[in-house]
Amino acid sequence: MSAELNARIDAKREELVALTRDLVRIPTVNPPGDAYTPCAELIGDWMKRRGFTVEYVRGEGTPGDSDRYPRTNVIGRIEGRGPGPCVHFNGHIDVVQAGQGWTVDPFEAVVKDGRIYGRGTCDMKGGLAAAMIAVDAILEAGIPFQGALEISGTVDEESGGYGGVGYMAQKGYFSKPRVDHVIIPEPLNVDRICLGHRGVWWAEVETLGRIAHGSMPFLGDCAVRHMGAFLDRIERELIPALDARRTSMPVVPEGARASTLNINSIHGGLAEEFEGLPSPCVPDSCRMVIDRRYLIEEDPDDVKREVTGILERLAAERQGFRYRIRDILEFVPTMTEESAPVVQAVAREIAREFGKSAEYVVSPGTYDQKHIARFGHLKDCIAYGPGILDLAHQPDEFIVIDDMVASAKVMAGAALALTGAAG
Ligand SMILES: [Zn+2]
Repeated sequence: MSAELNARIDAKREELVALTRDLVRIPTVNPPGDAYTPCAELIGDWMKRRGFTVEYVRGEGTPGDSDRYPRTNVIGRIEGRGPGPCVHFNGHIDVVQAGQGWTVDPFEAVVKDGRIYGRGTCDMKGGLAAAMIAVDAILEAGIPFQGALEISGTVDEESGGYGGVGYMAQKGYFSKPRVDHVIIPEPLNVDRICLGHRGVWWAEVETLGRIAHGSMPFLGDCAVRHMGAFLDRIERELIPALDARRTSMPVVPEGARASTLNINSIHGGLAEEFEGLPSPCVPDSCRMVIDRRYLIEEDPDDVKREVTGILERLAAERQGFRYRIRDILEFVPTMTEESAPVVQAVAREIAREFGKSAEYVVSPGTYDQKHIARFGHLKDCIAYGPGILDLAHQPDEFIVIDDMVASAKVMAGAALALTGAAG
């Protein structure tokens, strides 16, 4: 049966290329969340033609949702011959800005040298198209399966997923008994299985001062200098400590197996209005956003306490040091067990397709799996897809057509195995 299915997927190669190109040509750039509805409808119409029950779910009231930029998600379901597990393929339809440095039109989906170029080819419309073709091949071949197969195209992954998988997971779309196994074809390389991701905490730290004339700074209190003192502690104490902390999670790339902190932004003092003429004032506020990525071995409360501890010590030791800290976003690390059925099914298919065992990895950044774990309480979720991780968000992003075809075979085989139909 797998030989027949593979032959069918090979025969659908051009269809897979065409579907990917159609998806890439809809510029679903986020922010602001352009063209979500036509993209969701393309996927919805495609599923309706194949007998799926299709539903559109708007992420009402989620960040960025408006009548101009509706957060339109689509989900389709097709039942098998009887009761059994449901395998769900989820792909985000939003893409990041094209940015500079392209040698081709980022939304033209140019085919060249066995690749498709364009924003979102790798991350992750190529992966979503491969999953769709995998399911299509199963249906066309008339292979009997139990349970159900689902496909969803969701929005806003690049901005946190609140209007997409986050919203839908809260409504029960990613929970048992509806769904048992989720495969997200994010670009993690075609022979690797991504089990989960590190944790993330974003916070805004503000140091406070007192405004005064810049010619007499001794009459004020400079918030930027206070922030400088905090930065100095980060540099000398926190970053070396984080660097020394290593995880057992198989995070790729290797450098992300340590705990990390990035300074996302820093703003202090009055804005330089009037064509760059600065105001001669002592800054009374300085704001900095930190991006802390942490390991499954670390406790989220300790992660925060480590930062607030430094701020508290500064408040005790440094004259006039006052601060505020505000959480912006946080997600705990998540990692699916290697023994989980979805991991084992995909691993077997990778071994069959590539003649070598699958590599297990963990993503340095988060993706929509966090919502499935947190709101859906579903553990059986992985990312597996054909894109090359390093190409995501880059100029001249591309997807290798052979990889899409191979990943479609892996996904089709795994779906059949999980629904009890594999031969
Ligand atoms: Zn992605």
